[in-house]
Amino acid sequence: MTAHIIDGNAIARALRGEIARKVRVRLSGGRAAPGLAVIMVGNNPASEVYVRSKRRDCAEVGIRDIGLNLPANIGASQLLAEIDRFNADPSVDGILVQLPLPTAIDPNTIIERIRPDKDVDGFHPYNIGRLVVRMPLLRPCTPYGAMRLLESTGVSLRGQHAVVVGASNIVGRPMALELLLVGCTVTICHSATRDLAAEVARADVLVVAIGKPEMIPGDWIKPGALVVDVGINRLADNRIVGDVHFESACERASWITPVPGGVGPMTRAILLHNTLLAADRDRP
Ligand code: NAD
Repeated sequence: MTAHIIDGNAIARALRGEIARKVRVRLSGGRAAPGLAVIMVGNNPASEVYVRSKRRDCAEVGIRDIGLNLPANIGASQLLAEIDRFNADPSVDGILVQLPLPTAIDPNTIIERIRPDKDVDGFHPYNIGRLVVRMPLLRPCTPYGAMRLLESTGVSLRGQHAVVVGASNIVGRPMALELLLVGCTVTICHSATRDLAAEVARADVLVVAIGKPEMIPGDWIKPGALVVDVGINRLADNRIVGDVHFESACERASWITPVPGGVGPMTRAILLHNTLLAADRDRP
């Protein structure tokens, strides 16, 4: 079998087009452009690349972005004060703090300070809780983007056995909740899982988010499975690969996301979607 490739670039482009149209409707109705505050602490090179692309995406769809770069040695209290300022600013609909933060700052304290209705990353416990109780509102971008990619295949997900490898707060756990929401039977694997190969072999839908280059070989994958590879790993020769060994997985999967060009562009597009959603709810 040669898998169909799920084209994240094309699906994200279509979503950005839809968002741009909705922003134009807002503007033509005399309403303000949605505003997104992007806070970056320090100068982690990977974060700088992510922030630059997020700001470029905002410009493309007509979202006003407000960038704030803070020095790496800033204290948590100063960062919290900046968040409070954006929380109180009615022209700011979404607030994003680029992770990772310098180790001296506890990310949970920072995430909890963002007003839940401006939490466009969907990481605040309030928004995660809403996903748990089947009332999702601002949903974590990567898992929601991954769901849109799975849905684009047209394959019914209800009743399928989904296996999520990785249990982080920002990807694995909310991913499992999203899959549960559409009626999958969900298994979550992590670094203490005893027999990962056996768990993966049972997956009709496999989502991998571990951060280990090409760790899942194709011959673990159930023939016909849908495979979403969230991992982004840069190799010594500068190539970017996922957590799944793509070529061998293509021989088993029915559908698969490539890296790059799969989940990454969708994560960014969902951030725009969430910012527009926050603006439409708060400043209709
Ligand atoms: P994380 O380090 O916070 O979590 C990794 C998870 O994988 C943990 O739950 C850990 O228990 C599990 N794990 C590690 N080794 C394992 C093993 N050998 N077997 C089974 N489970 C194992 O990482 P994260 O933030 O969830 O990110 C995971 C990957 O996804 C990274 O490569 C990251 O760059 C990528 N990522 C991509 C996007 C995107 O937009 N495409 C967004 C976020 C993260």
